[in-house]
Amino acid sequence: MIIRSIRARLTLWYVSLLTVTLMLLGGAGYGVLAYSLSNQVDQALNGVARVMAEKAGAEQSPVFPPDVDEVFRRFFGFSPWERYFRMLDPLGRRDPMHGGGRSEKLPVSPEALENASRGLPTYETVDSVEPYPVRILTLPVLQAGRVVRVVQVGTSLQSVFETRNRYLLIMAGLLPVGVLLAGAGGWLLARRALLPVDRMTEAANRIGAERLADRLDETGADDELDRLARTLNGMLARLDAAFSQVSRFTADASHELQTPLTILKGELEVALRAARSPEEYRETLESGLDEVNRMIELVNDLLLLARTEAGVLRGERHLLDLGELVRQVGSRMKILADSRSVELSISPTEPLLVLGDAEQLGRLLSNLAENAIKYSGTGGRVTLTLERLRDHAAVHVADTGPGIPAELHEEIFQPFFRSPDALTHRGIGLGLSIARSIAWAHSGALEVQSSPGRGSTFTVLLPMVSE
Ligand code: ADP
Repeated sequence: MIIRSIRARLTLWYVSLLTVTLMLLGGAGYGVLAYSLSNQVDQALNGVARVMAEKAGAEQSPVFPPDVDEVFRRFFGFSPWERYFRMLDPLGRRDPMHGGGRSEKLPVSPEALENASRGLPTYETVDSVEPYPVRILTLPVLQAGRVVRVVQVGTSLQSVFETRNRYLLIMAGLLPVGVLLAGAGGWLLARRALLPVDRMTEAANRIGAERLADRLDETGADDELDRLARTLNGMLARLDAAFSQVSRFTADASHELQTPLTILKGELEVALRAARSPEEYRETLESGLDEVNRMIELVNDLLLLARTEAGVLRGERHLLDLGELVRQVGSRMKILADSRSVELSISPTEPLLVLGDAEQLGRLLSNLAENAIKYSGTGGRVTLTLERLRDHAAVHVADTGPGIPAELHEEIFQPFFRSPDALTHRGIGLGLSIARSIAWAHSGALEVQSSPGRGSTFTVLLPMVSE
């Protein structure tokens, strides 16, 4: 059976461990009790036997029952009803002067006589005399180093057995009660300890995609649960940021598409309002085609961005010389640079091999070069340089444009970001996002170094393939 609640599992473990511990402790207690009770009986028997041996040995006279009572009382604290005492000769025969009566029922084992003949005492437990076992001590009486008699004293172990049984009964009664109480306590404690988890589950259930700004309560206690809440909150913050980015992206994209569509619609409506000359229709159609081309460009950019970000374009990798690619891009951009009176130069480069998609990397470099030319303005200078930085190939695209303030260094890579003064340029703000996602898709990076008035340098870093 699988128990799905941590609370039930904790309680079950707790109760099981407690039961085992209590049983071990109870068992050990029982052992100690049994041992000390038997030990007490043996010691008392030893005391009685020694006094009786002394008495009988010295006086050579009969020992009367009151004397026996007295000695038993001295060592046992009371005179047990089922007590035994008798004297035997060294061969185990009854000494008529001492004992008799019920004590005659005591057996004399050959081992006890054998031990006695060597001057040693023998303790035995005998079952056959009474309903309860009887503990017997057989002790030799020595005179001048010779065994002259043998003393036997004994007592019923009834009270020892009864005490042990009482202990077992008490344990059997108390153990389930104790375990039950502890189980109930454990259940309540587990509930208390897990309450914050339940609260967290509830709160987490409440937070859906529309309520991502909500956070779980942090107690500040820095315990396991507080750390869990902090971790979940961190995750929520990242999700929140990602969701807002996606919705901002969607809103911006729709807005970008809306503008040319509105223009197109307006132009078509105006053209249809009255009869026009063929030239006027042609003009309207050409302008409409412009807007359509603009939309195609935008949609293509969006598609490219989505596919590079999703990693769909990963995989088409060929060995290519980055120097060659820089030269190709440079010569393609020459026409644009000339038309804007910008001086474009390419520093001579050694071949640097990278693994990548020539079309995408060409697009990346073109975007950077196009921006550099666009933002440099008439009379500006744009330089493409390639260098080797340890195990990376770096392409720097430097311009003498207006520069970018530090606080915008991350912003410019966001889709649809355009600095307010760039609005005059015909850009949609996707160039750098596409460039960066291509660099990332090639396990590389795209960084910017720039400050207002001092131009900008964009650097693409790509892992190099060692020849
Ligand atoms: P856009 O289509 O507007 O050029 P980009 O993503 O290429 O979009 O660039 C985003 C913004 O970054 C631009 O609007 C501009 O403000 C800034 N930017 C990019 N390149 C340069 C540069 N070489 N010099 C100055 N500003 C730049």
